[in-house]
Amino acid sequence: MQKIDKYDFNGKRALIRVDFNVPLDKETFEVTDDTRIRAAVPTIKHVLNNGGSVVLMSHLGRPTEGGEPRFSLKHIIKRTSELLGVEVIFAGDCVGEGAFEITSKIKPGQVVMLENVRFYKQETTGTESFAEMLSRHGDVYINDAFGTAHRAHASTTVVAKFFPNDKMFGYLIESEIKSVSKVLESDEKPLTAIVGGAKVSSKITIIERLLDKVDHLIVGGGMAYTFVKAMGGKVGNSLVEDDFLTVAKEIIAKAKSKGVDLYIPVDTLAADSFSNEAATQLVRIDEIPDGWMGLDVGPDTMEDCAKIIETSKLILWNGPMGVFELENFQKGTIAVAEAIVRATEKGAFSLIGGGDSVAAINKFGLADKVSYVSTGGGAMLEYLEGKELPGIKAILD
Ligand code: AMP
Repeated sequence: MQKIDKYDFNGKRALIRVDFNVPLDKETFEVTDDTRIRAAVPTIKHVLNNGGSVVLMSHLGRPTEGGEPRFSLKHIIKRTSELLGVEVIFAGDCVGEGAFEITSKIKPGQVVMLENVRFYKQETTGTESFAEMLSRHGDVYINDAFGTAHRAHASTTVVAKFFPNDKMFGYLIESEIKSVSKVLESDEKPLTAIVGGAKVSSKITIIERLLDKVDHLIVGGGMAYTFVKAMGGKVGNSLVEDDFLTVAKEIIAKAKSKGVDLYIPVDTLAADSFSNEAATQLVRIDEIPDGWMGLDVGPDTMEDCAKIIETSKLILWNGPMGVFELENFQKGTIAVAEAIVRATEKGAFSLIGGGDSVAAINKFGLADKVSYVSTGGGAMLEYLEGKELPGIKAILD
């Protein structure tokens, strides 16, 4: 494996897998959120500033075979050119003759964007011959698409084998990996993880892994009610996974045996329906009346969580504390976000990783006040679970 900082790009064509799967306006096809394009700029600029040229490949959406114009990467050209300050040439295809003609003539300082790799089904099936064709566009391969690193696709994984001595991570993947290691591998203490979101079932692997690492584990969101019920509490109509009551009990026991301080919310904002207009009442979390459901944590829980978070040195947050999409049930999630910001101001390292907590921190405008916000939803979740991501393994091998 090579390091992007040490590699000599002079006169080389860098084939870069980026994640430009960005949201587009349904009518004008303009890019409505360019976060993912911005995230790839440092890697692209590094190659250009060091005498190389760049061939970009990405997927966009989930097109059917043959491709649909609405999923064409031509919609991304304008914004990418603006962000790079360089005209981006569109190849119109990713493996056709015309595309090879363009990338074979590319000159140092130039940037070409291939068409959506998912216009060929061989991309998602990870077909080797297709990956080999893609590999012809570059002399060196850089994977900077963390968001798809958990997929063993042609452009994210298989293509790497055609660059045995010239493959590396881009800056984005490097920083994602670095931030997870910083939280989970460093010796600083205390380490607090806040795991919220809808279901125990989707977070069980991450919780089990975290129990070996953390000092405090705060459980929030919909999954808290399964824990409360497992302990004999009354949860009314709250979200509960009855199949996971035993698992919840086992987690409680494991936390005890490992000396992990497991925090389960003590109060809740209960609603009489799943709606922003619902009637509400604050109750103890184990005394939710029949017909009511907990949609957010209450003030005592917010205070307890803030205390734990603000005395932590390392913080990992995955999953909201309540139904933060509804304005009346976002207070608990805001309280956690603000406590993380205060801890970060005091010197803690905070990683917001995976799914809806990233959406939440962006929604509250606090993303630049924490240490690191991951771009890789499902990939980050799998990485935190300790799984080997094929896109990462392909570079390391
Ligand atoms: P996840 O993708 O597993 O992180 O789950 C995020 C979702 O969990 C969000 O859409 C939240 O609205 C939802 N959620 C959080 N708290 C609750 C709750 N108390 N009841 C139902 N859903 C919740």
